[in-house]
Amino acid sequence: MIEFVFRMKKKAQITVAKSAGFCPGVKNAIDKVLELAAQRQKTIYTLGPLIHNKQVIETLREKNILAVKSAAEIKEKGAILVIRAHGIPPEEEARIRALELEVVDATCPLVKRVQENIRAYARKGYSTIIVGDADHAEVLGLMGYTEGRGFVVSGPEEVPGLPRLEKANIVAQTTQETEVFLAAAAAARKIAGELEVSNTICNPTKMRQTETVEFSRNSDLVIVVGGKNSANTARLFQICERLAKKAVHIEREDELEKALFQGAKSIFITAGASTPTWMTDKVLEKARELAGHEAAGLMDHLSFAWRLVVTGSLYTALAATALTYVCMRLEGAPVSGKFLLMAGLFAFSLHMAHRAAEKGGAEPDKARRLLFIKYKGATRLVSLASGALAIFLSAALGWQIFLAAAFFWAVGMLYPYKLPMGLEKFANFPASKDIVTAAGWTFICAYAPGLRQGWALDNSTQLAVFFVFLLVFMRSLLFGISHAHSDLIAGRENFYKAAGPRLTYFALFSIFLLLSAILFTLKGSGWRPELAAALLTGMLYYLALMLFFFFGRIPERVASEALIDAQFLVLAGLTYYTK
Ligand code: SF4
Repeated sequence: MIEFVFRMKKKAQITVAKSAGFCPGVKNAIDKVLELAAQRQKTIYTLGPLIHNKQVIETLREKNILAVKSAAEIKEKGAILVIRAHGIPPEEEARIRALELEVVDATCPLVKRVQENIRAYARKGYSTIIVGDADHAEVLGLMGYTEGRGFVVSGPEEVPGLPRLEKANIVAQTTQETEVFLAAAAAARKIAGELEVSNTICNPTKMRQTETVEFSRNSDLVIVVGGKNSANTARLFQICERLAKKAVHIEREDELEKALFQGAKSIFITAGASTPTWMTDKVLEKARELAGHEAAGLMDHLSFAWRLVVTGSLYTALAATALTYVCMRLEGAPVSGKFLLMAGLFAFSLHMAHRAAEKGGAEPDKARRLLFIKYKGATRLVSLASGALAIFLSAALGWQIFLAAAFFWAVGMLYPYKLPMGLEKFANFPASKDIVTAAGWTFICAYAPGLRQGWALDNSTQLAVFFVFLLVFMRSLLFGISHAHSDLIAGRENFYKAAGPRLTYFALFSIFLLLSAILFTLKGSGWRPELAAALLTGMLYYLALMLFFFFGRIPERVASEALIDAQFLVLAGLTYYTK
């Protein structure tokens, strides 16, 4: 997560930990179950909840992913049962594999490494000392690999209570505190004849702890966000309590009180491994409000108005209008107000409808609550009315445009819901959402203006179609990255979720190179060189945006969306000044 520093009038500085957000193990387990749910079209069971967050669990349940305490609760034959990131003991795994179930292992590879370590030493006759929480699922799983010679201690003070051990291997629960583990290892030297020290704290935890120590020392107030029953969050809190002047452990932003911020000039916000980024963002929002209470005024109102514009899809409507303008210039078609308005209304209507149906596991922020909860009915009505108006306008542009616009609008409106006639399968096709979005925008922004002029098969129309499809597809990829960064739950219909980060960035950079090469060739060949040069310059904005995202400098969701859609405004601005 980007390190975010926000200065207010009172000079309180708020820093959010770069390491906040789901750890790779949790992310990987969530991705795995989403992939299964999309591919298999049946209930997916997980052995225990994937994470302890009400909203995320609710979203997973809506996607037919249910947590069970034991395999005995599953009555269907051949059901899919997922082992979560913490792992389970080998005997339990053997037992569930013997049942009529399809077992999918989503144990974090870093936990697996600890299991292998324990097994290897246990086979050589070593006893195992695990420094961790005796009743934590990961530790219960690790105990199963000790061949009956395992001991759990919560810290160094419990080590002297262990029996004398000939040969022992001391390991850590992956989320253990380094200091506690090293102290326990030092104590274990006194009770073991031969001691192997295997520091199995995972790297994401080490990074989180190092950052927490560094910032806690220099902070007046540290806010630790995460479940009260989360062991790793509790450990983070212990570190902060020791080092910072003041520290609090909260689950939700509404637990923060103004009195906490009195006299706090430097505030640090960190979070446990299973705390979604969107929850940390909400805490940041609340902390800003409470710490900068006296600064609340015009800027706060403007900032909220801006969030409403972006969240309420007006900004996307403007972006679609700008892109249509670029297409008309590319095609050499006269700039038509009707087309610009139709494109804006079309994008607004569908974007709002999708927003209203969105369930990303996140609790809505203030703007979303207002638009999609408090005034839900009015929002739906405005979305439908804009769509109807867009189709009405399309009727004035010719029957072909009318039919196609009505088709794309109907598909777009139905997409977030259950599709009829087996179309559900298509909706679950990897990246289908990104493809449908790109196709809809391409028709409205690029193809329709050419069609209206009778240039449907002209090279300039084909070029605009190709150009827009790829640009809008890139937009969807960037949205996917931004949503994943916020730990929002999306299915494989999103390219990023289906293909993963590497392939997504590969696709982004490839499309960027392809489009740049085409524009460069067009400019060189003398095809409207000024326009080609303007669009080529606009590609620099993409490059900057991609590099920014690639190096992890991804701002929070609303700012990300605004930056992504600004690409079309940049292109329209650049083309406006060309012949
Ligand atoms: S805390 Fe570390 S070991 Fe545990 S699931 Fe996350 S990445 Fe894996």
